Amino acid sequence: MTKVARISDVQAALNSRFIVTQHLVIQVLADKSLIDDEKTYAIRELNKTYDKIKIMNNQGTRRICENCNQKCLATLYCEYCVLNYLKASFSNWTSGNYNIDNLIQRCQMETLRPNVIVEWIPYNNFQDICYLTKGGFSEIYTAVWINGGYEEWDSEKQKLKRFGNQKVILKELENVENANRSWLEEVCTYLEAFNV
Ligand SMILES: [Zn+2]
Repeated sequence: MTKVARISDVQAALNSRFIVTQHLVIQVLADKSLIDDEKTYAIRELNKTYDKIKIMNNQGTRRICENCNQKCLATLYCEYCVLNYLKASFSNWTSGNYNIDNLIQRCQMETLRPNVIVEWIPYNNFQDICYLTKGGFSEIYTAVWINGGYEEWDSEKQKLKRFGNQKVILKELENVENANRSWLEEVCTYLEAFNV
């Protein structure tokens, strides 16, 4: 299959997904069993899925972002504004380790969606830390992440909004200060998969 044929296949799939999304939006709007808040929620979820497919395939109708004037793909946020926001925040956090900071910054610059962002979380942003079990090479804890991870883009305030408190699993790593290249590469591979 040629590259041109593959691109047109993706475009055709996106077009059909767009038609399906529009059809579902019409169905949601016409559904008398739903109250307005439920309709708004359902339509937003449909648009999130549509955005996700467009961004992951880097294909689809683009629009001019009213903030940065770039031609973005997403409808609920602007992928360029999200990257600019993350880049501008680099000086607001540090792990204390140059290699880890560099890795997280690189991951952030490959962010595709506002609800899937790799970030450094200071230890004091966790509460209710409880020992859970011992894993293969480390101890595992549960905790509550105060304010939680990024969830969506706030177009009015031009910033990323957080989800709210989230229960998370913590894994203790030994000798992180001496993290060597292979450890970092392993984390990179995992984070690349996470980004998808
Ligand atoms: Zn923008």
